[in-house]
Amino acid sequence: MTRTESRPESTPTLRWEDAFSPAGRRLSSSAIREILKITQAPDVISFAGGLPAPELFPMDAIRQAASSVLDRYGPAALQYSTTEGHLPLREWIAARVNIPPANVQIMTGSQQGLDLLGKVLIGEGDVVLVEAPTYLGALQSFAPYGPRYLQMQTDEGGIDLDALEEQLKTTRAKLLYCVPNFQNPTGRTLSLERRRRLVELTARHGVIVLEDDPYGSLRFTGEEIPSLYELALEACGGPDGSHVVYSGSFSKVLVPGLRDAWVQAALSLVRKLVQAKQGADLHTPTFNQMIIAELVHDVMPAQIGRVKAVYGARAQTMMAEMKAHFPAGVTHTVPQGGMFLWVTVPEGLDTTPLLERAVARKVAFVPGAPFYALGGGENTMRLSFSSANDGQIARGIRALGETLHEALA
Ligand code: PMP
Repeated sequence: MTRTESRPESTPTLRWEDAFSPAGRRLSSSAIREILKITQAPDVISFAGGLPAPELFPMDAIRQAASSVLDRYGPAALQYSTTEGHLPLREWIAARVNIPPANVQIMTGSQQGLDLLGKVLIGEGDVVLVEAPTYLGALQSFAPYGPRYLQMQTDEGGIDLDALEEQLKTTRAKLLYCVPNFQNPTGRTLSLERRRRLVELTARHGVIVLEDDPYGSLRFTGEEIPSLYELALEACGGPDGSHVVYSGSFSKVLVPGLRDAWVQAALSLVRKLVQAKQGADLHTPTFNQMIIAELVHDVMPAQIGRVKAVYGARAQTMMAEMKAHFPAGVTHTVPQGGMFLWVTVPEGLDTTPLLERAVARKVAFVPGAPFYALGGGENTMRLSFSSANDGQIARGIRALGETLHEALA
């Protein structure tokens, strides 16, 4: 007898779709993950994923750090530990911006920070301002808490502050989420002048700012610009007066698989995050935090230097190939760091159906539309230059150029 046959006739069939909570119902799978499935054929050159270059991972240093952590801490390296995080790591993070370690909460990837910040800050119907386009993972993290997304206009310099000022005159927003450095997906960077205006404007209107900065250390050209968080610290006189919440990550400067990241914020918010994190995962893996803490002093600075040099060269190669092979009328951003650039094709050409034609020519990208919270961007695409080598970039961009020429003919 099969299991189905043994079920008593009176047992109702459980329909899981009806059982999901309002938060569960608001979850949807990332459009990108679905798209990436078609790009994963082995011989396709992919500019679609957002993966750091694995050949640059500091394997030997991590092996050594793991071993010395076990020697130094013994079983404590594998024991439960505090929710706030490994103190030496928090101290190192705090010292960078001259705040007390109490204002730093370690997260299991900055993705967890986005989720927990959404959980403790976003109530149903709260207005959340996001860039158009924005990081898709943030939209996914916030969605269960019922935000009402409003898009901020952007231009080549990122968020358009004149437009935002107008928007804030008529809109009561709770939270503004942005990626000021080498944004995912566009690669754009917000200028110092715009940052100052953003910090001042949001403070005046009582809008909390969530500054997501996983790429900030990966600048390969141009001058460093202070973070919104640092500007807010100056303006508000200290970490507990800051309306800017900063999210940092070790994923792009060391390795993503250890899942180590952090949030810097006012103490009252950190305390609430601690409670949320206790319910989520008790703490970020002890061993991983200890390994990262071993690496931040010597290995990480050298690693950042290597990564920047390679990504900078790959971005240059990609832009040179695009200049040579893309049709007139196709434009792109010129990133000063990070892993992405953003391509705009002539109005009327939709990049989503184009992807299949590109994959047939053995190259893949991510269509831009999913990065818009409220629609738009059909004639855009994101290209990642971090994980293909120069030869692959040259072949891939040529193939993408052919696809575009054909589509525009
Ligand atoms: N924010 C942005 C803007 C990202 O691009 C990413 C990774 N793609 C994340 C957050 C999440 O990174 P992690 O959880 O690895 O720190």
